[in-house]
Amino acid sequence: MNNIFLSKSSYCKCVQCEKILWLSEYKKDNAVAGNNESVFETGREVGELAKGLFGDYVNIPFNEKPNIRINKTKQLLKDKANVITEASFLYDNNFCSVDILKNDSGGVEIYEVKSSTKIKDIYVDDAAYQYFVLSNLGFNVKKVAIVYINNEYVRSKKLDINQLFNIEDITDIAKQKQGEIRSNIDMINNYMEVHDRDNEPDKDIGTHCFDPYSCAFWQFCTKDLPTPNVFDIGGMQKRSKFKKYYEGKISFKDLESEKINKKYLEQIDLN
Ligand code: SF4
Repeated sequence: MNNIFLSKSSYCKCVQCEKILWLSEYKKDNAVAGNNESVFETGREVGELAKGLFGDYVNIPFNEKPNIRINKTKQLLKDKANVITEASFLYDNNFCSVDILKNDSGGVEIYEVKSSTKIKDIYVDDAAYQYFVLSNLGFNVKKVAIVYINNEYVRSKKLDINQLFNIEDITDIAKQKQGEIRSNIDMINNYMEVHDRDNEPDKDIGTHCFDPYSCAFWQFCTKDLPTPNVFDIGGMQKRSKFKKYYEGKISFKDLESEKINKKYLEQIDLN
C-alpha cells in the first residue's frame, strides 16, 4: 500500500480529527471558510518578518508545485546555502516545508514561525512532524524550535526582529513524539484506505470540532440535527452544549423543560 500524500497541515488536521482529511478529499465543497482572512494576513506578515532572523536567506516560493520546491531545496543544500526559507522535503509521501531552515556542515535546524504570543500543543505537533520527515530522510536535525511573538517587546522607532520574537527550543519534545507521529501516519493511511469515496467515516461531533481550530466542516457534520438546536444558543459554553447534546437534548423542544440558565431558556422561548 502506498502512503497518501500528507502535508504537515493535513497531518495537523488529522491530529484534531481524522475525518477532516476524508472530507477535504471527497467533500471539499462543503467546507465553510471561517473569518480567518485577517488571521492569515497577520500570519503571513509575521512569517515574512521572521525570515530575516538569521541574516541573509534564500526563499523558495510557496506557490510553486511541491516537486519543484523539493528540487530547489536539494540544489540549495548542495550549494551549501546557510539559511533557506520554505525549504521543502518529502519522505514516503509525507511532505513538509520548513519556515526557516538553518544549514551548516554539522546538520540542520528547524524553525517553525507562529504569529502567536504563546506556544500551543498543535505547534509542537507541527514542528515534530517536520523533524520526522527530515530525520527519516537522513538529516542530522540538531535543533527544532518554535518562533513566536514576544508580547513584552515595546517597539522603538526601528523594529528589532530579534526582540520581537521568542525562540523556544523543543528538540527533546519533538524527539519524544516520533513514535506517536509514526503511528498517527499509519492510522491516517489505514483510515483513508478503509474509507473510500463511497464509505463516509462515522465520527461524532465533539469539543474537538473547535480545538485547536474551528472545523470548516461543522455545518456538514451537523446537517442532520434539528434546527434550531442546542448549538444555536448564544452565550452558552461549548462544553455545556455538548453535555446536552450527548444527553440527547438537542432540539429547542427537547431543551424547553431542561434546568438551564434563564437567559438561555429565554432564547428558546423566543423561537
Ligand atoms: S466537524 Fe468535527 S467531526 Fe466533523 S470533521 Fe470537523 S472536527 Fe471532525
